[in-house]
Amino acid sequence: MSQETQKSTQAEKNAHMEKIVSLCKRRGFIFQSAELYGGLNGCWDYGPLGAELKRNLKDYWWRVNIQERDDIVGLDGSILTHQEVLKASGHVGGFSDPMVDCKACKARFRADNLDTMQCKEKPSCKPGEGPKCELTEPREFNLMFQTRMGASSDDNDPASIAYLRPETAQSIFVQYKNVVDSSRVKVPFGIAQIGKSFRNEINPRNYTFRSREFEQMEIEYFCRPEDGMRLTDEWLELRLRFYENIGIPREKLHILDVPDGERAFYSKKTYDIEYEFPFGIQELEGVAYRTDYDLGVHQKASGRPLEYFDEVTKEKFLPHVVEPSAGCDRTVLALLCEAFEEETVTDDKGKEEIRTVLRFHPRMAPVKCGIFPLLKNKPELVEKAKAVRDTLRPFMNVFYDEGGAIGRRYRRQDEIGTPYGVTIDFDTLGEGDGELKDTVTLRERDTMKQERIAIGDLLSFLLEKLR
Ligand code: ATP
Repeated sequence: MSQETQKSTQAEKNAHMEKIVSLCKRRGFIFQSAELYGGLNGCWDYGPLGAELKRNLKDYWWRVNIQERDDIVGLDGSILTHQEVLKASGHVGGFSDPMVDCKACKARFRADNLDTMQCKEKPSCKPGEGPKCELTEPREFNLMFQTRMGASSDDNDPASIAYLRPETAQSIFVQYKNVVDSSRVKVPFGIAQIGKSFRNEINPRNYTFRSREFEQMEIEYFCRPEDGMRLTDEWLELRLRFYENIGIPREKLHILDVPDGERAFYSKKTYDIEYEFPFGIQELEGVAYRTDYDLGVHQKASGRPLEYFDEVTKEKFLPHVVEPSAGCDRTVLALLCEAFEEETVTDDKGKEEIRTVLRFHPRMAPVKCGIFPLLKNKPELVEKAKAVRDTLRPFMNVFYDEGGAIGRRYRRQDEIGTPYGVTIDFDTLGEGDGELKDTVTLRERDTMKQERIAIGDLLSFLLEKLR
């Protein structure tokens, strides 16, 4: 591909991304945090639809990993973290990125990302390449947010230091013994957690992709040392299947077998699962074989034994760990990028128009079904439509809409990815063809095909599709 073509394809991808960002704001998926006050860099608020989308993702992850398996249990650890935990894990001393300052424009950059950044003064140049750029030597910048706990009389009392956790994993390692002692888990088994993590990223960027506050979905899968490598490969496969099951096709996913020298020093094997975002191929999840590093360091630092006793073989050993660690916000972003489409359609009068549609998998869609009385000024239609809404809503998120032409109402739902719409019309009331009494029109978002379905069959039909 020529350089010019490459540039124009990237320009198209950037324009595509801008449309997604704009839709997300306009329809209430994602807002900049504290936008009213100029915005808090690297932080995002999920609006009504974004909150539903994210919840569907987390619920499905929890369901397949915990509810539908015998060998994984859940945990919900605290965000505020004891400094000794993060000293032992190596985060206090080493969780940092290399940073450079530009003495000319005072901007700060991640030293290992300069290729993808722009000079503040001359955006056509990379940092360091502009006429006035003057970069310092790289130095390490610790990414953890530190805070002080309690009303200590001395503000500088080192004992009052605590951290916002930089990953959910550490509370799993620290509670591993309590879980073993209180549940009936037997190696191999996993502990799973979904929750917020915080990293003071030097350059938050690419919309929500690199944020300072984000959510992780992590599993620490404890196993016998000899099974670690095999289980890493098995987890990779399971995680790829997960993405397919939420609507991210395998061909858009890339597997990076992280080479020696680029993995964390304790990891014997790491796969990064990457997705083709419009801004580049970037990591969604890491599947890492962490050996017994974490339990080992916590055992040593706490002075408390963390070995596992195998009742069958009568052996005592420190389990090894395989960790599939996924980013919730990055997956939501991938879902949005994958779902967004503008297509040209022809309306009833033969006129061409652009239909914006989010083709979410029904199990991820924030709203599952739109419910529309054909006319809002016919009380019988409205009453019947509201009755259908009330039947469905204990089971799923539905949206009742009586405003505007029916075509416009369909389009509004297409734009937020609602997979189904039902219209209550005069046939439903038995005023047309009597045989159609108590049936509704069911419209499918992707094909825009419409069929009649009995109201009594609607719930089971939808539940089957959304499961
Ligand atoms: P990166 O190299 O992109 O900084 P990482 O390798 O440091 O990511 P991990 O420490 O392996 O990330 O964290 C596991 C997952 O948590 C990542 O795959 C990603 O999905 C998510 N994650 C990590 N950092 C961020 C962030 N700043 N914003 C959003 N999600 C993040």
